[in-house]
Amino acid sequence: MLDAGHGGDDWGAHGPKGLKEKTAALEIARAVGAKLEAAGFEAAYTREDDTFIPLWDRASAANAKGSDLFLSLHLNAARAKSARGSEVFFLSLGKGDDDEVVAVENAGAGSAPGSPDSVVASILDDLAQKAFLKDSEQLAVTIQGQLNRLAGIKERGVKQAPFVVLRGAAMPAVLVEVAFISNPKEEAKLKDPAFRAKVAEAITLGVRRYFAATNGAVRRRQVGGPD
Ligand SMILES: [Zn+2]
Repeated sequence: MLDAGHGGDDWGAHGPKGLKEKTAALEIARAVGAKLEAAGFEAAYTREDDTFIPLWDRASAANAKGSDLFLSLHLNAARAKSARGSEVFFLSLGKGDDDEVVAVENAGAGSAPGSPDSVVASILDDLAQKAFLKDSEQLAVTIQGQLNRLAGIKERGVKQAPFVVLRGAAMPAVLVEVAFISNPKEEAKLKDPAFRAKVAEAITLGVRRYFAATNGAVRRRQVGGPD
């Protein structure tokens, strides 16, 4: 399940030349979907046009569809114009590694629904992703590795943060800050379909590495082959 961040009245961040995060995220989601389909995966989308989908509904859509992975796609923004490259996050149930980005990405969430039923649902949602934290971390690591190669960055590791959009996902789930829309060079690259295709290729390779390292082994164990 590909989740293009923001949408509608929620623009997310924007670049110095005016590129909106909601627009770039949707373009990236389409590019990733095309590469995943070409690699033999089935891609689904939380949104396919400029509509705002409440954060709480995005993981629910993935759960309802029985998706194997949840990838939330965003663009980063920083006060330092030179900040560049990709950051991949998985859920933290406590404090995160980057308060600023969490405040931006959770801004569209609104308050959690308040009825007793939804409080229970919210606790169950947290437990759902809790069961997948190890898998989510591994998925974050394989995708971050490929995006680092693309950006020519060696040392950047994955981060953990309390993103609302990841809480309810009953599957491995990550949030990818694909590039810094606040960096004039990266804003310009985001407008280039060739760059978006490279990003999509890197994310797809990360997904394939993840499945090769995890699901394949799990399936073999379930089948109980001679090895
Ligand atoms: Zn965002």
